[in-house]
Amino acid sequence: MDHPRSRRLMERGRLRIPGGVNSPVRAFGSVGGHARFIREAHGAHVTDEDGRRYIDYVASWGAILCGHAHPEIVEAVSAAARRGTSFGAPTAAEVELAEGVAERVPACEMLRLVNSGTEATMSALRLARAATGRARLIKFDGCYHGHADALLASAGSGVATLGLPGTQGVPAGAVGDTIVVAYNDLAAVETAFERYPGEIAAVIVEPIAANMGLVAPVEGFLEGLRALCDRHSGLLIFDEVICGFRVGPGGAQGRLGVTPDLSAFGKVIGGGLPIGAYGGRRELMEQVAPCGGVYQAGTLSGNPLATAAGLKVLELIGRGEVFAGLDRISRRLAEGMIEAGKRAGVPLVAQSFGGLWGYSFRSETARDYAGAAAADHERYAAFFHAMLEEGVYFAPSGYEAAFVTTAHTDAEVDQTLEAARRALERMD
Ligand SMILES: *Cc1c(COP(=O)(O)O)cnc(C)c1O
Repeated sequence: MDHPRSRRLMERGRLRIPGGVNSPVRAFGSVGGHARFIREAHGAHVTDEDGRRYIDYVASWGAILCGHAHPEIVEAVSAAARRGTSFGAPTAAEVELAEGVAERVPACEMLRLVNSGTEATMSALRLARAATGRARLIKFDGCYHGHADALLASAGSGVATLGLPGTQGVPAGAVGDTIVVAYNDLAAVETAFERYPGEIAAVIVEPIAANMGLVAPVEGFLEGLRALCDRHSGLLIFDEVICGFRVGPGGAQGRLGVTPDLSAFGKVIGGGLPIGAYGGRRELMEQVAPCGGVYQAGTLSGNPLATAAGLKVLELIGRGEVFAGLDRISRRLAEGMIEAGKRAGVPLVAQSFGGLWGYSFRSETARDYAGAAAADHERYAAFFHAMLEEGVYFAPSGYEAAFVTTAHTDAEVDQTLEAARRALERMD
C-alpha cells in the first residue's frame, strides 16, 4: 500500500535531519522500506500522515502506559501549561512525583529528576563512581543504557573484555573503564571482579533486558549480581527506564524481589513527556549537589508539564488492577504468537511481563545478545512489513521489545493474532 505523504515528508526530512529522524531506529533501517510519519494517536492506535490507522505495539518505546492521548493526562498537561511551562525554580509537583516514586520503590529513598533515561543512567554512574571512589564499570552486551559515552560500549564475547567503543566519536579513554560481559553470565561478572579487585564501581543492568528483543534474567542471575556487588563493595544499578512502572507498580525490582543500590527511570514516569529520574538510598543520594560534591543539573529538569503527566500516570496505575490487566493482555499476545508460529511451522518464541512482551523468530529462548542476534532477523523484517499492511505497528527492528498499554483490549489482541496467523502462513 502506498503512503505518499510519509514518503514526501521523509524526502524533505532527510535534507535537514540526519536520516530524516531524531532517533536512528525510527528510520526503518533494519527492516527496509519507508518510515511512517505519525499524525496522531489515541488509545491503542496510531494514525499516519496518509490516514492509515495501526494497532500500536511501540507505545513511544514504552513511554506510553495508559494509552495515547489519555484524556486525564492531556487535561493534566494542558492545565500545567496554562500555569506556565518552566520556571527554573522548585515546584510542588516535583516533590509529589519524588514522593510517589519513593512510596512505590522503597530502594529509592531519594530521587533526582532529569530529562531523559540517558541522563538518568549517566548520572547514576557518576554517583556510583564518586561514592565508591572507583572508576570501572561492568555492563552487559546487548543492554542499552542511553547514549552516554561510557555506556555505549557493547563489544564483548562471553568473556570479560575491556570495552571497545560501540560507535564512532567515542574516544577509547571514555570506554576504557567499561567491562562488557554477556547477559545472564554470572561467572563472567565474578571473573571481572576478581581481575580488577577494588576497582569496580558498579554493575549496571536492565533487570529484564528489553533492548535486544526481550531477554529475561535466568533464575538467580540478579540475586547473584546483588551478592557479588555486596562481596566486592561495588554498587548495583538497575536501569529500570523500560521496566519501571511497566512490569509492576514497584518496577522490576518489586516484581523480581532484588534490591539495587541505585535505580534509573524514564519513559513511563513521564507519561509521554521528556523525563528521567535516578534514585537510591539517602546516604548515596545526599552525595549529589547541592548536598554533596557530585555535580548534576538541568535547565528543564523537573519540568512542570512532564511532572504533571508523570503524577497522573502514577495516579492512574494506583487505581484498580492495572498490572493484572496488562499481564493478561500481554500473556495472551505472547501465547497467541507461539500458537500462530506452531500452526504455520515457523520457529518462534515469545514471553511477557506486564506491559512488556516480545517475540523472536528462533526455536529457543535467548538468554544473551548472542542468542538474540541468532534469531532470524530477515524473517522479522518480512513479518514486520506484512503486519504493517495488516494495520499492526511493531517496532521496526527485531532487537526491540513490544509494548502494550492499558488501552489494549481483547479486541486488539484478537485482531493482532488473526493478522499474525495470516502473515505467518503466507511466509512459508
Ligand atoms: C530508552 C532507554 C534508555 C534511554 O532513555 P532515553 O530517554 O531514550 O534517553 C536507557 N535505558 C534503557 C533500558 C532504555 O530502554
